[in-house]
Amino acid sequence: LLDALSDQIALALERLRLTEELAANRLATETERLRTALLNSVSHDLRTPLVTIIGAAGSLAAGPDLPCDARRDLAENIREEGERLDRYVQNLLDMTRLGHGALTPRLAPLDLAELIGSARQRMRGVLRAHNLLVDLPDTLPLVLADGVLLEQVLVNILDNAAKYAPAGGDIVISARTAGARAELAITDHGPGIPAADLDRVFDMFYRVAGGDRQRAGTGLGLAICKGLVEAMGGAIRAETGWPDGTGTRILIFLPLHNPETTP
Ligand code: ADP
Repeated sequence: LLDALSDQIALALERLRLTEELAANRLATETERLRTALLNSVSHDLRTPLVTIIGAAGSLAAGPDLPCDARRDLAENIREEGERLDRYVQNLLDMTRLGHGALTPRLAPLDLAELIGSARQRMRGVLRAHNLLVDLPDTLPLVLADGVLLEQVLVNILDNAAKYAPAGGDIVISARTAGARAELAITDHGPGIPAADLDRVFDMFYRVAGGDRQRAGTGLGLAICKGLVEAMGGAIRAETGWPDGTGTRILIFLPLHNPETTP
C-alpha cells in the first residue's frame, strides 16, 4: 500500500513539475513576445519622428534663401515631431514606472476646465486639422487627481482622436458630474472601434487590425491611460457608435474632491 501511495505521490509531483514547466515556458514566450514588440515599437516610433526632424533640419541648413513661409513650415515640423518624441518618451517612462509599481500619483484638488485648457494648448499643433469643442457645465466640482498624469492621459486620447478621425471633423471634450464621480468624455467622429475590441484596446501593444487604422502607433497609449487613471483611483472605458453609428468616445471617471476628507 505504501509503495502504491509513494508511486502516486511521485506521479503527482511529476505532473506538477510538468505543469510548472509548461507555465514557465508560456510565461517566457509571452515575455519574449512583449520584449520583441517593445523593441520594434521603440525603434520604429523613435526613428519615424527623428527621420522627419533630420530631413527638415537638413532642408533648413541647405536652403538659407528659402522663403519665409517654407522656413516656418520646416521649423514647425521640427517642433511637432520633437513634441511627439517627448510624448513617446514620457509614455515609455510611465509604462516602466507602472510596470514596477513605482508610480505614486500626487493627488490634489484639480479644476478640469484648467486641465483641458492646458492639454488643448499643448496639442494645438496636432489638432490643427480638427475642430476641437469644449462643452462644460457652468460649475463643475473639483476632482481629486494628479494634474501631470491626467494631462498625459488627455494628451494621448486627443492624439488618437486627431490620428484616427478624419480631418475637419469635430472632437468634443465634455465633463459632468455623475454621482460621486466626475465623468470626462472625449468624442470623435472617426471610424470607431469594433465592439469586440473595446476592452482590448486598453491592452499593452494591442492595435485594431485593418483598414484605415494602420497609422503610425505603438499600441501603448490607451494601456498607459488605463494604468494612470486606475493609479489615481479612477476608471476608463471606450464606447463606439457615438453619435451616429460611428465615432469613438473615451470616458474617464474620477473621484470628486471632498473638502471634508482632503484639505
Ligand atoms: P496606438 O494609437 O499607438 O496604436 P493606442 O493604445 O493609443 O495605440 O490605441 C490602441 C488602438 O485603439 C489603436 O491602434 C486603434 O486601433 C484604436 N483606437 C484608439 N483610439 C481610437 C479612435 N479615437 N478612433 C478609432 N480607433 C482608435
